[in-house]
Amino acid sequence: MDNSLLITGASQLLTLHGNTPRRGKVLSQLGIIEDGALLIHEGQIAAVGPTAKVEKLAAARKAEKVDVGGRVVLPGFVDSHTHLIHATSRAEEYELKIQGASYEEIARKGGGILNSVQKLRAATGQLLKQRARAALEVFAAHGTTTVEAKSGYGLDVASELKILSLHKELGVQQPIEIVSTFLGAHVVPLEFRGKANGPEEYVKLLTGWLIPEVAANGLAEFCDVFCDRGAFSRAQAKQVLAAGVRYKLRPRLHAEQLTRTGAARLAVELQAASCDHLEQVIASDIRALAKSNTVASLLPGCDFHLGLHQYAPARKLIDAGAIVALATDYNPGTSPTTSMPMILSLACTQLRMTPAEAIVAATYNAAYSLGRQKRLGSLEVGKQADLAVFEVEDYREIPYYFGVNTCWLTMKSGNVIYAAV
Ligand SMILES: [Zn+2]
Repeated sequence: MDNSLLITGASQLLTLHGNTPRRGKVLSQLGIIEDGALLIHEGQIAAVGPTAKVEKLAAARKAEKVDVGGRVVLPGFVDSHTHLIHATSRAEEYELKIQGASYEEIARKGGGILNSVQKLRAATGQLLKQRARAALEVFAAHGTTTVEAKSGYGLDVASELKILSLHKELGVQQPIEIVSTFLGAHVVPLEFRGKANGPEEYVKLLTGWLIPEVAANGLAEFCDVFCDRGAFSRAQAKQVLAAGVRYKLRPRLHAEQLTRTGAARLAVELQAASCDHLEQVIASDIRALAKSNTVASLLPGCDFHLGLHQYAPARKLIDAGAIVALATDYNPGTSPTTSMPMILSLACTQLRMTPAEAIVAATYNAAYSLGRQKRLGSLEVGKQADLAVFEVEDYREIPYYFGVNTCWLTMKSGNVIYAAV
């Protein structure tokens, strides 16, 4: 066996070829090959094209063969925003929200993020890892091959380092690629609240101690801040992200979710990799994002789960020329889903994105926001063979069948990590 695999018979092979982030009209270009085939060698894509052509290649004749029987093949989803490590669900708060309590009211009563912090600090690393591993299997079962994971439910030195170390361990012990982000600035922890300079002292702990420690141990690539009412101000966010930059952690930002704080502009100013949420952006923010290389990552699962009606203005962002990505925001409080196909359904019906735009936003543009677009996010020669096969004939059926998982096969580096049968 020479470690080659020939995949044939894709009714549509979505290559997404092209090597720049997709803006405006280009966002919907899928590079479809009908009756497509892929030749994989040593985990990398060696050839892409119509089945009739690829199967004639000398290297293809020696390869192991998989006929996908008229299904759709696309790049594996890149989920660029998750809070992977947490101890339990917050189903009790879900019920309170349905009965009328707002997310912020629950947070003020010690629920919300602080509730997850309390539970995480009490949990063993083994329990946290087990829960994350189970979730990663479900991510794979929905076609996802790369997951960004944020800390932020620890909020003290030991617990934050514990979460980031688990990212590293999980990256080695299971097949989905984990991209680690330090989100020590999620909210101010309880022990720093109620003191005169509590929040400032916590920011000092992050910038003076935790960020250098995280960087010295290679525990994260990115640094993120939740900049919003009830979390961190724009000035505090700037302090934390600037400290991250000094230690080579690229900025990301939770921006303009509950209130407009100017965080999106800050993200552009700091050349952040992404700014995420954006429900409250205004026209000048959209213009600034459109002129920048900062990815506008939209998280419609969050608004859906909270029952909110104001989704991010995806159409305006796309039409202005911003680089739009989609992610699940998998977390126990506001978006407990691992299903990127469900996010595509929400992007189509609530954000008015077309199925093609949604697919590119959840693959190539998301890979770009994680700095991995040269290796991931499209099916082209030389790229890693990360792909998903869906039990549909037309790619539009992936979001069309909402709440139903039509993923049939998922591969990471040419290895099967999920098979429906
Ligand atoms: Zn988030």
